[in-house]
Amino acid sequence: MKKTSRPSASLAFRLALSLAAVVGACLAVTFVAVYALMVSNAHRRVDEQLRHEVSEVASLLSPQGVEALEGPLARLAQAEGTDLVCYRVMDRVGAVLAKTDTASWQWLTINRQALAAATREQPYYESVLRNTKEGEARVIYAVLSDDRILQVAIRTFHELEPLRDLRHRFLVIGAFGVCLAIGVGWIVAKRALVPLEAVTDTALTIAEGHFEARMKPESRDIELERLAGAFNAMLDRIQSFVRELRDLNDSLAHDLRTVLARIHLAAERLLSSRPIAEEQESLAVSIVEESADLLGTLNTIMDLSEINTGVAQTQFSSVDVTALMVELCEFFEVTATEKGIALEFDSTDHAVISGDPNRLRRALANIVDNAVKYTSRSGKILVKVRSENEVVAVSVEDSGVGIPEEALPYIFERFYRADKSRSREGHGLGLSLAAAIVNLHGGNIQVQSEEGKGSAFTISFPRPPSTLG
Ligand code: ADP
Repeated sequence: MKKTSRPSASLAFRLALSLAAVVGACLAVTFVAVYALMVSNAHRRVDEQLRHEVSEVASLLSPQGVEALEGPLARLAQAEGTDLVCYRVMDRVGAVLAKTDTASWQWLTINRQALAAATREQPYYESVLRNTKEGEARVIYAVLSDDRILQVAIRTFHELEPLRDLRHRFLVIGAFGVCLAIGVGWIVAKRALVPLEAVTDTALTIAEGHFEARMKPESRDIELERLAGAFNAMLDRIQSFVRELRDLNDSLAHDLRTVLARIHLAAERLLSSRPIAEEQESLAVSIVEESADLLGTLNTIMDLSEINTGVAQTQFSSVDVTALMVELCEFFEVTATEKGIALEFDSTDHAVISGDPNRLRRALANIVDNAVKYTSRSGKILVKVRSENEVVAVSVEDSGVGIPEEALPYIFERFYRADKSRSREGHGLGLSLAAAIVNLHGGNIQVQSEEGKGSAFTISFPRPPSTLG
């Protein structure tokens, strides 16, 4: 039997993706938290350095006032590098009283709000971003004596650059973690879904007619063992129901057939007895006909239910479909000619399939019979057999009454008859039996029809691999 190779691929994939999403989210939260902590630590270290700078400048204050600070400040800045640090002393309105070389600090503005907010106890801190490439500066506004404000700015490049590097590493680790989670999630989900595959495979095996198929009950997991047990118990119950029903059907059909056969025989005996009254003769004839018809219908119903329930006994052999259709055309030609219908046959080769010859004959005969039955005088029927690629196609086209569009979806159902007037013989079982037999052979049956113009039935059977060129 054909095993399902990817029965729950999408479910497994969705589970793997969900796991990856959870792992991704956890990693993102962790990385963001760690990164924020490290940035805040780095700022704390820079702020400590800024406070140290402020106390150093405060210790340089002399009685000559802040204006005398310019020289010592310049030395301080030069010692650390004027592009890395900058000092400015100003009053509360931002007028600069002393400053170091600010050539590389033109971009750093004076924050009026900071000037107003800074107090002797609580200096004001801010981070100012120059640009993404050159990074930011950390700035302190601290109150010196006599209400002068000292602004010290330090480039945080050295402190924050390693963190930026860390950000890239986090991204790479995160991407790797997500891929790993997808892989692991996929494997875990596939393993977890193995029991589902077993259920599906068992169900498919049963659908193919192997009613004895069961799931293996032994499993390492107690839940799966219970699932297998429950599934098997359900199948046992259904199978015993089906068996009971089949036995009942069989005995009922057998009894009915026996009674009908007896009635048939009795009516035939009555017919052959002489002398026989005219009225009795016509009654006997109709009993013979009706019982034969009923017997035929009963056989068809039995055959149909055996095929549909998958219990039909089949004996497949090599069947020459072309020869079979020639034989059927010859058989129906008599009736067709009587009705003035031209029955043509067309085939270029001998198409061979593997099948049950008797059932195939019944199925195809029903189609040709219908074509003759539903085609009026001077009509035409064309029967074709073709071997095309991997299929053998039999088509039966007629120029008959056609099938109304609204009836087309139902014509393969049991007891359905599109011809509501019931002017022609039939019980509406021919096409359902034909379709069941075609299905049994792995083929399919299609119909195209236009009311008043005719119908075309196409039956395709798979060609056995040995006949493929
Ligand atoms: P029936 O015994 O009524 O022919 P079938 O199962 O063989 O039962 O066909 C079902 C219905 O499909 C028929 O009653 C008829 O209305 C329609 N049908 C089948 N074949 C043809 C055809 N070749 N042309 C027109 N109608 C058709």
